[in-house]
Amino acid sequence: MNSVDRLNKIRDAVPSNIKIVAVSKTKPATTIEWLYSKSGQRLFGENKVQELEAKHEILPADIEWHFIGHLQTNKIKYIAPFVSLIQSVDSYRLLREINKEALKQNRIIPCLLQFYIAREEAKYGFSLEEAFLMLDDNKFHELSNVSIKGVMGMATYTNDEPQIRSEFKTLFGYFELIKSRYFVRDNDFCEISMGMTDDYLIAIEEGSTIVRIGSGIFRER
Ligand SMILES: *Cc1c(COP(=O)(O)O)cnc(C)c1O
Repeated sequence: MNSVDRLNKIRDAVPSNIKIVAVSKTKPATTIEWLYSKSGQRLFGENKVQELEAKHEILPADIEWHFIGHLQTNKIKYIAPFVSLIQSVDSYRLLREINKEALKQNRIIPCLLQFYIAREEAKYGFSLEEAFLMLDDNKFHELSNVSIKGVMGMATYTNDEPQIRSEFKTLFGYFELIKSRYFVRDNDFCEISMGMTDDYLIAIEEGSTIVRIGSGIFRER
């Protein structure tokens, strides 16, 4: 099986209303271009600014690029002109800086709030309390050039399925709570990005609307 076959198998397993992000980090542009032309895949995810910028420059312009990694404020400017969704907003400060760069580009940048749901120490993301603090602040509502589309999270890297499921349930609960408190009349707040190669089926059962699949398409593990 090649990457097209693997992607098609995943497409068969995923309901059509759920978006599949092909996570192409570390993969050369030629590999991406091949998948692009053979499978019609247009949605790709990257986690490093420089890598994303370089690939964006040489690959077809109709690729939708999602940024899914930890974003440093001084690097936003390199992706602000073209990124279609920043999934990994993990602080108010970062969101303010994204807003600034979006303003310079005269565009509105769609974003997801990344939540910390895993047991592991290393993962980034808001706690629910931190998100409430931001969303309750009037200054948040002055950010005219970012649009919050929903939430994102990563489960603990483990084989413990109940653990993973409970973390996805937590993220779904955060989504519902935030939706009801702050975005109840905002139909754009509708995305829950959760699920990767090893846990996307669980994530879909728990309400995911966007899955991010890397090794399951491109192999290597
Ligand atoms: C690498 C990565 C993925 C894809 O992981 P796989 O297990 O290879 O599918 C998804 N989300 C984020 C944030 C990543 O960094």
